[in-house]
Amino acid sequence: MASNIIRRTLATSATSPLKIGLIPADGIGKEVVPAARRVLESLSNGPKFEFVELEAGFEHFQKTGTALPKETITTLKNECHGAIFGAVSSPSHKVEGYSSPIVALRKHLDLYANVRPVVSVKSPAFPNQRELDMLIIRENTECLYIKQERLETDPKTGKKLAWAERKISEEACHRIGTMAFNMALTRQKLREQKPLAERIWKHNPRVTIVHKSNVLSVTDGLFRETVRSVKEQNLEKYGGVDMEEQLVDSMVYRMFREPEAFDVVVAPNLYGDILSDGAAALVGSLGVVPSANVGDEFVMGEPVHGSAPDIAGKGIANPIAAIRSAALLLEHMGYTEQALKMYDAVDAVLVDGSILTPDLGGKSTTNDVVDAVLRHL
Ligand code: ATP
Repeated sequence: MASNIIRRTLATSATSPLKIGLIPADGIGKEVVPAARRVLESLSNGPKFEFVELEAGFEHFQKTGTALPKETITTLKNECHGAIFGAVSSPSHKVEGYSSPIVALRKHLDLYANVRPVVSVKSPAFPNQRELDMLIIRENTECLYIKQERLETDPKTGKKLAWAERKISEEACHRIGTMAFNMALTRQKLREQKPLAERIWKHNPRVTIVHKSNVLSVTDGLFRETVRSVKEQNLEKYGGVDMEEQLVDSMVYRMFREPEAFDVVVAPNLYGDILSDGAAALVGSLGVVPSANVGDEFVMGEPVHGSAPDIAGKGIANPIAAIRSAALLLEHMGYTEQALKMYDAVDAVLVDGSILTPDLGGKSTTNDVVDAVLRHL
């Protein structure tokens, strides 16, 4: 079944391969991206893939002085249908000339949404797991992340005074809101293929709008009003999707108290960033949580975890987040059937619980987990 978001891929012919850029970048990115590639290559009756390895990252910066080579950007823009990004190391202090390649890639490719499913699986690895099936959609281009900061001297006190500007545009709010309502409908369609008893979310599709417009009435007020207007101006299409609002502080509280109350959650960049990392704590390990950076023309899968320097090179990184990110990439390119197969195979490995990496309490290696996923495909 094709996704309702039209992607460039859908315009390619059935016989021409899907060209996927692989950007392992730093640390365990070099281990989990090849793992995701092995799973994609093993899909039967799916699209044919052609992979192209591309450079980026802090390690590349240390070697060459460039974190994101021009060639990586032009190859992705001109030749690739989608990409998988591994992980980038973030130096804790300011390094002259270095800025994050992932932030730059989101800008260059206009990947305006970060989409993060947080889904529970019943597994011995997560004995206290609450049932949840939530999708956090974070606006990826604006808010405080435009990095308009300045440092002044307070004329009254003579002490430092720091400012940051925040941008919220109607256009960006409208497109992220549209994505949230479309995803709510797509998720509902996919759920309806399962018997009711097997569904985690059993209600009407629901979009929760997160903001703080009681304090930031201009910026968050615009976010709130514009996302609301997506439904209000298109009741024919979105009338069946429930809409609710949540102030960001109470959202954090509710998300941990009753995560099962959320379906699609849409938020401006900063709140979405914080919420989505917090949500990863609800499902056991950073090593299992995927994300995708999504635009109208391009999709880039990206596991939520970082480069994990403490375990890099040991062969024990959990590849599940990267494999699920590759599935998310396929899902957003319209290859839903193949994506579902990958999700199911990963879930089967977790449910079985005998082959798990150390972050989930197991003793298996990255390759053992990939082999187990392939057996379930
Ligand atoms: P960075 O500087 O790249 O952000 P970090 O160590 O600060 O690195 P993460 O890479 O996200 O942040 O790692 C946080 C913790 O989670 C580390 O202890 C790491 O080993 C663990 N971790 C992250 N990803 C995985 C994974 N895929 N498999 C196993 N453990 C992981």
